Amino acid sequence: MKQLLSTVLALFVLAQPARAEWIERVEDGIMGTRIVVELWASDKAQGNAAIEAVLAEMRRVDEGMSTYKPTSELSIVNARAAQEPIEISAELFDLLSTALDYSRLTDGAFDITYASVGYMYDFRKHVHPDEKQIAAALPGINYRHVELDRKNSTVHFARPGVRVDLGGIGKGHAVDRGIAVLQARGIDRALVTAGGDSRIIGDRFGQPWVVGIRHPDRKDEVIARIPLEDAALSTSGDYERYFDENGVRYHHIIDPKTGHSASKVRSATIIGPTATRTDGLSKTAFVLGPEKAIEIYNRLDDIDAVLVTPEGKVLYTKGLAPPDTAK
Ligand code: ADP
Ligand code: MG
Repeated sequence: MKQLLSTVLALFVLAQPARAEWIERVEDGIMGTRIVVELWASDKAQGNAAIEAVLAEMRRVDEGMSTYKPTSELSIVNARAAQEPIEISAELFDLLSTALDYSRLTDGAFDITYASVGYMYDFRKHVHPDEKQIAAALPGINYRHVELDRKNSTVHFARPGVRVDLGGIGKGHAVDRGIAVLQARGIDRALVTAGGDSRIIGDRFGQPWVVGIRHPDRKDEVIARIPLEDAALSTSGDYERYFDENGVRYHHIIDPKTGHSASKVRSATIIGPTATRTDGLSKTAFVLGPEKAIEIYNRLDDIDAVLVTPEGKVLYTKGLAPPDTAK
């Protein structure tokens, strides 16, 4: 018996490459959020170097695209693009262009110019604009105000008072960049997460990765577990960045039509091929409501979604719906 056990152990050890192992790193603070990188590396030093490269890439994206950094390329655009066309990097140009695609796809529910009003909220300090301030700034919200000129690689705002913020798509982009960094290093089993946005490459040796969707009010409770391989998943929730005042929840997803927090769902989880895409679609349900949003998601062949309504009902798109609710 003892002999058998040691033979089994020896076989197990032989079956794995020399020093291969799962490596995980949790890093707080880049893009104001938590970054998680988990990967399978054939060598621990190479695995750790790959993680460092992912974190460096995320810091680079943040340097260019954060509106909290006055020196970022995006802050310069916000300061000057209403006066004249501003020449920008190919990376920023492409992400702005992608953001406008998601505005068109979601009937304007996703709109990076939400920031024309959105900049007046400070969820940490419990600050929100009053009705007069919202009314004065609201005309600045409209994705059509963002004029891109691909030939000259410039952006111009059609009127004063327009601000853009990539908080609704930048983490998805950073996750996709992180995955590209890993793939360039030959890593083919990994998870990269930034805040609510995750992407997975490969599987866990015959098993899928499993990502949980949390309960909107009870942080340690999971309402669904989603098995994933080679896929991205983004969750938006009204519990992420918020404060309550006089029975009203002020939270970080803004309805572009009203300038107020959008509360037609409590949370929205989108599953799709890239994190830029799932991030670009996870705000929609808050603004348009579950029915209209599911209609849009069901039209997109590569997208699935799980929504939690204000009443606590869990709704699924057709690709995920349990058989009794599939229609
Ligand atoms: P996370 O920050 O974890 O990625 P979300 O993906 O839910 O969370 O993105 C929320 C962010 O999206 C907000 O903090 C804000 O920067 C931005 N945002 C808010 N409303 C909109 C909107 N209507 N369209 C596009 N982006 C928005
Ligand atoms: Mg996101």
